[in-house]
Amino acid sequence: MIAKSQFLYADLHIHTVYSADSILQPKLLVDLLAMHSYIKVVAVTDHNSVRGCALVVDLARVYSDILIIPGTEITTNNGDMLVLGTFELPPKPWTPESVADYARSIGGVSIVAHPFRTYGMGEYAKNVKVDAIEVLNGGTSKESNAQAKEFAKGLGLPGTGGSDAHQRAELFSVCTRIDASLNVDSVLAAIRKGAVSAQMSRADLFF
Ligand SMILES: [Zn+2]
Repeated sequence: MIAKSQFLYADLHIHTVYSADSILQPKLLVDLLAMHSYIKVVAVTDHNSVRGCALVVDLARVYSDILIIPGTEITTNNGDMLVLGTFELPPKPWTPESVADYARSIGGVSIVAHPFRTYGMGEYAKNVKVDAIEVLNGGTSKESNAQAKEFAKGLGLPGTGGSDAHQRAELFSVCTRIDASLNVDSVLAAIRKGAVSAQMSRADLFF
């Protein structure tokens, strides 16, 4: 029998207490991820900070079936951007272009976060060489997410999903299905080539 490829399910936008506006403790995040029935990957994307990344990665080491992607959410002068695959902040000044360049230079991934919401980049993202657009954000209206999805389609860019959780109750509300192996490089490569699809999570399958 030929082995069927397994999809990973990832929440690619999460804030821990290392974001001033989040109350989500790193240990709770890791424990809930380990308990989840099918979401086994998260990206830690604190606001303008990477302080929590190493700690969360370290806490997750005891579980062989979960993966933490280190990252950050940068407040650029023209809207929020996620950088995945970094334990360091991009050099300032933070423009969409400089952040995208940084992500590329380190083999990471740049994603325009919630383009059509507050702090979103909107149509300006057209001018920036990003890897993907966040088309499903847990803290964004249906309409704005739908607009982001259309926008990504028009640009021919992959669309990712993340809860944008700042507390436990918001975690894993949406996710990204990824055709990749359970390691950071494989996940980042899959995002770049568009082997991803954003979707609502099934709350009934939490445990
Ligand atoms: Zn966020």
